[in-house]
Amino acid sequence: MSEHVDVPADHPRYESLLTRHRIEAGVDKGITSRQGLIAQGRGEAFDYLLGERTTPSADEAERVATAHLLLADHAVLSVNGNVAALAPRETVELAEATGADIEVNLFNRTEERMQAIVDHLREHGAGEVKGLNADARIPGLSHERGKVDSDGIHDADVVLVPLEDGDRAEALADMGKIELVVDLNPGSRSARSATVPIVDNIVRALPNMTEHARELADADEATLRGIVENFDAEKALDDAEREIRSGSFE
Ligand code: ATP
Ligand code: MG
Repeated sequence: MSEHVDVPADHPRYESLLTRHRIEAGVDKGITSRQGLIAQGRGEAFDYLLGERTTPSADEAERVATAHLLLADHAVLSVNGNVAALAPRETVELAEATGADIEVNLFNRTEERMQAIVDHLREHGAGEVKGLNADARIPGLSHERGKVDSDGIHDADVVLVPLEDGDRAEALADMGKIELVVDLNPGSRSARSATVPIVDNIVRALPNMTEHARELADADEATLRGIVENFDAEKALDDAEREIRSGSFE
């Protein structure tokens, strides 16, 4: 992390302050919505209680989610305004390591914000970015909120949806997709509707998944299936809840 921020690197809250700065900059750049600031605040509170670290259980979920991306016929990484502001390069790197597509998908969709996010991702190395066509719908959602690309999320068998709204996460799960959700709140409807809930900060989860993808690059299909089949989503949520409830302020 090297951007020019007025945060001293030896500040004990350096990572957290930098993350906040990125979200603020995202709002200024027209990438992140003002509601995105509220979502960030909610996430930070859970992250604080988790000790701002990737727990062993989250690391396992990240490995399983990566195996799903590698097994997919068509995987798509869904990007919203918070993800674009916080982890644009990390998103591109994970897409490259797994062969997944990238699609911009917004809860509060405006053409300006869609375009700003596509441009931002391309500045960070993305090739094709889907989402602007919006020629298909997620069933069960109102017109604007259900828009997706027919050759993107609509067609995908595996979707990674970080920081997704609970309603939309449920609608995607109802389409029969394998849904990988990154969400710091293990009680959110998004995490609860996921095939693989990843209770971790997006800024840690994505690079860790890319590392897993590199490590699993030569794994055969049987190995990947073995990783995926042994996963217990309920247990992952319980583990995260236990970490949060038993965390101390030391
Ligand atoms: P629902 O129960 O409908 O899912 P919600 O908790 O999703 O409600 P939102 O504020 O729309 O409500 O969603 C934002 C979610 O994203 C929150 O659960 C929050 O914990 C999570 N979140 C915010 N920032 C991050 C982050 N940097 N990394 C991971 N998760 C985050
Ligand atoms: Mg949610």
